Amino acid sequence: MFDPISLIAGAGLVGGGWVAGRISRRRSAQSAQPAQAMCGCGHNLALHDRESGDCHSESMRKTGYGLKEWARCGCRRYTGPTPLEDFFTPPTLPPVS
Ligand SMILES: [Zn+2]
Ligand SMILES: [Zn+2]
Repeated sequence: MFDPISLIAGAGLVGGGWVAGRISRRRSAQSAQPAQAMCGCGHNLALHDRESGDCHSESMRKTGYGLKEWARCGCRRYTGPTPLEDFFTPPTLPPVS
């Protein structure tokens, strides 16, 4: 014999599982992020000097006993990926005297 109440409860469980599966599948679709011009020192290309290549970023460093001081980043040259717009700009020529 069929019990109508347990039949409805069973249908609801199957339907609920199907909806949950669809939602979790859609959420995992978007995970890709655009590539950033990030140097090996962990700072953006914009923080690096165009000519010398020095990194201008400063970070708070603990010196002990609760004292802190600003320390320049030790990076001297940008090593990250080169953005396309920078790659195609011609190099600046030295002034002709
Ligand atoms: Zn750097
Ligand atoms: Zn840096």
